Amino acid sequence: MKSLWNDAEAAQFAGPLGPRVYTSRLLGRDRSLVLHGGGNTSVKLREKNLFGDEEDVLYVKGSGWDLETIEPAGFTPVALGYVRKLAGLAQLSDPQMVNELNTHMLRAGAPSPSVETILHAILPHKYVDHTHADAVLSVSNAPEGEKRIREIYGERVVVIPYIMAGFDLAAYCAREFPKQAGKNTVGMVLLSHGVFSFGPDARSSYELMIELVSMAEEYLARKKAWQVGFSRSEPEPGPGRSREDIAKLRRAMSDQAGFPMIVKVNDGEKLAAFARRPDVDKLSQQGPATPDHVIRTKPFPMLGRDVATYAGRYREYFERFSAKAKEKKTMLDAAPRMALDPALGFVAAGRTAKDTAIVEELYDHTIDVILRAEALGGWRALDQQHTFDIEYWDLEQAKLRKAGSPPAFTGEVALVTGAASGIGKACVESFLKRGAAVIGLDRNPAIAGLWRRPDFFGVTCDLTNQQEIRKALDEAVRRFGGVDMLVLNAGIFPSSQSIQEIPAESWRSAMAVNVEANLLVMQACHALLRLAPRGGRIVVIGSKNVPAPGPGAAAYSASKAALNQLARVAALEWAKDGIRINSLHPNAVYDTALWTEEVLASRAKAYNLTVEQYKKNNLLRTEVASKDVAELAAEMCGALFAKTTAAQVPVDGGNERVV
Ligand code: ZN
Repeated sequence: MKSLWNDAEAAQFAGPLGPRVYTSRLLGRDRSLVLHGGGNTSVKLREKNLFGDEEDVLYVKGSGWDLETIEPAGFTPVALGYVRKLAGLAQLSDPQMVNELNTHMLRAGAPSPSVETILHAILPHKYVDHTHADAVLSVSNAPEGEKRIREIYGERVVVIPYIMAGFDLAAYCAREFPKQAGKNTVGMVLLSHGVFSFGPDARSSYELMIELVSMAEEYLARKKAWQVGFSRSEPEPGPGRSREDIAKLRRAMSDQAGFPMIVKVNDGEKLAAFARRPDVDKLSQQGPATPDHVIRTKPFPMLGRDVATYAGRYREYFERFSAKAKEKKTMLDAAPRMALDPALGFVAAGRTAKDTAIVEELYDHTIDVILRAEALGGWRALDQQHTFDIEYWDLEQAKLRKAGSPPAFTGEVALVTGAASGIGKACVESFLKRGAAVIGLDRNPAIAGLWRRPDFFGVTCDLTNQQEIRKALDEAVRRFGGVDMLVLNAGIFPSSQSIQEIPAESWRSAMAVNVEANLLVMQACHALLRLAPRGGRIVVIGSKNVPAPGPGAAAYSASKAALNQLARVAALEWAKDGIRINSLHPNAVYDTALWTEEVLASRAKAYNLTVEQYKKNNLLRTEVASKDVAELAAEMCGALFAKTTAAQVPVDGGNERVV
């Protein structure tokens, strides 16, 4: 492991917290050191208060911040003297500790300080860095882990047995650190948890972290336990990998959880090879690399796809340990967050696409830790009691009680066609805003990069091509696990022509895009919609031209009318599958690519109106924007329309011909 310190880069971080921010980010950049909000850093500064008195202030990473992207505002100032004194108390519950930390912050509105704050306070060094380095976890989770750690570091580090993060760990370290520390001490290893380094300045503390972790890596290399190969293993040929198979698994997991979940399948070399190992049971079922992961991953992955059996095992685990707990515990849902399946590879599940991606990344690193420890002589996870203690910690249980309800479509997946512009683009926004993961299909390759976030997946796709639709859906279902809501938006508007002038080609292409492409998408999605945890929903973006066709628009009007009939028949045929389908008929939506300033001006002139008047040429004298249509499309998939299918709703400001 190499130091990433760079003088020129460091110079850009000014102010008293500058160096602290810079090296925290350097740690955050390396996923083998910290993952997703893991790890924390601090600095002790002496500052003058309003009365000119000097105060010792501990700036420690606040909760909700990631080291990789932390800013000065992400460090919470706390009264160092007071916090350090807490470590001397005979006992303090963790909720009380959190209360003390929160009431001794020196900046109103700062994030809650890390639960490891007292630990930072008791270490007698200006800069303190803490990571959950993979290499250190591998060594300490091998047989005789503690002996190996002492062999690697000698008197350079203080070694602490595993104790859950919180007051007890901090109080133990406060007693133990002075006993073990000597003049050569530069760090502290918490077995099966992580490593601390410290120093008088940001660079030395950071570079000691790199050095300490490198020593564990070199030890693993010397013991031939660093390079752990992943033999490429193909799944056995056979069923089990289709879109429908994945959607079935997602449905079973969601039903067990009691809410829809996003499911991601990873058949990449490392994860799939691990899933197909003959000893996967022995390696995977012991527990996480460090108990902290359990909040995201649950204590063990599911092997195969039998969700009911998994839930039974989880319930047993809960009953076994909750019986011993001091307070009454509320059981969490029993659905797995990970599965290892010989046909699919690795499957991650979570409430949101981001949660799912985090589970995947945690397990990717867990496999490194497991296989290296295995190569050292045998992977040993901590006793499950420790995992339970974290999963059902008072502070986690308190979060459950406080949690509000998430956005309406959390855990659900929406597919929008023609998503790169106009109404389709606005639909993507409306569904993302309601918590859905969104698949955007469009002919325009720009779709892939329009939203760079884990809950959006854009695929270039020609919807008149059945093969392309299937391929896009294959990818999308591996990404999110299914399709619950379908917005049929893609369409074309051929240039105005009277019937006797319409070229056959133009007629055919209107029918191909506005009718047949939608049929193909509906056909390909039917099996997925049927498996949607809350029932499938389809919204058809129709047109005012369905109830009120316009002269010069025969191909458009006829194709939209055919689509309308298709939707009505779908309502009849698919109701038994729990799928509802509703249409909305927009008119005069001018904020789309179709309507340039020039086109608008010329159309307005043709009606002897100003552009402003033309835009609002409806009963309500209001302008209809893409967003208005998109919001209605999203609502049609929500609770308001739960009992409605085959409805046709205008969104046009009121049109005399439709009325
Ligand atoms: Zn930690």
